Amino acid sequence: MRIPFFLFVFAAALQAQTAELETYIEVRSGTLPIILTVPHGGSLKPANVLARRYGVTGTDSNTVPLAEMIVEELATRYGGKPHVIISRLHRMMLDPNRELEEAAQGDPTAIAAWHRFHDSAEKACDTVMKKNGVGLLLDIHGHRHLDQRIELGYLIKGDILKHTDAELNADTALIASTSIRDLDKRSPKSFAELVRGPQSLGGLLEFNGFRCLPSPSKASPAFLAGYFSGVYDVAAHGSRSGGTVSAIQVECPWNNVRDVPENQRRFAAALAKSLGVYFEVHFGRKLK
Ligand SMILES: [Zn+2]
Repeated sequence: MRIPFFLFVFAAALQAQTAELETYIEVRSGTLPIILTVPHGGSLKPANVLARRYGVTGTDSNTVPLAEMIVEELATRYGGKPHVIISRLHRMMLDPNRELEEAAQGDPTAIAAWHRFHDSAEKACDTVMKKNGVGLLLDIHGHRHLDQRIELGYLIKGDILKHTDAELNADTALIASTSIRDLDKRSPKSFAELVRGPQSLGGLLEFNGFRCLPSPSKASPAFLAGYFSGVYDVAAHGSRSGGTVSAIQVECPWNNVRDVPENQRRFAAALAKSLGVYFEVHFGRKLK
C-alpha cells in the first residue's frame, strides 16, 4: 500500500519539531536521587518564537555553568549523576517557573517546550521514586538582592519565617503546604530545624562557607528586604502535592557564587558536600 505524501510531510515536520524541542529543553537522566532544574539560564531566542509580553524576562546569568559544576562535583563525591533539566530558551521566550499561560503566553513552540520541561521533571521524579524511594529536586536560580546570600525557597513566605521555631513546628497546615512536606515526615529533626537549624541545607551551606537565608545565622528576611520563597517548579514537583520527592528553590547571589568560574566551582563543591550530610540526617540514607 502506498503511504500518502502528506503523511511523509507530517512525519518530517513532527521530527523537526522534536529535534527543535530537544535543543530548547535539555534533558539528561541520572542515577542519584537528585534532580536539578535550571529554568532561567538559557540564551536562545529563536525567530519563530514570539517574545513574552508581560512578566519577568531577565536571565539568571551563569546558572547553567553553575549547574554543570554541581553535576560534576556530585559525580566526583558520590559516583553518580543527578537528573538534569535545563531550559536553553531565553526567559524572553519561555519562563518554565510559571503557570503555562504566563510562561509561554500562547506561543505554540513555547507551550510545547514548557510541557517538555515539566513532563521531564515529572518523569525524573517518578524514576527517582521507583529507583530510590525518596529524592530531592533543586531548582537553580540567580538573584540580585542587596543581601548577597543563598536564598532557599520551601514555599514559606518571608513574613511566616518571622514566626518562632515553636510556632512553625505547631503549624501543621503550613508544613503541609511546603515543598518539603514529605521530607518533614521522614526527618528526625523538627520542621524549624529542617528549615533553619544547623543541619538544614542553609546551615550546612553556611558551615561550608556560604551565607544563607533561612539559616541559623538568618532566620528570616530583614524588613523590606527581598526574599524568593519558591514558585511554580518547586510547587509542581515537590512533595506538597504528594509523592516522596521534596523540592527546594536555590537562589544564588551574583557575588562569590555565580560571578566567576572559581567561585561557581567552590559553591558547587560546598553544595555537593552539604547534600551528603543532608541526605544522611534527614532522608536517613547515604548518597553514595
Ligand atoms: Zn530565576
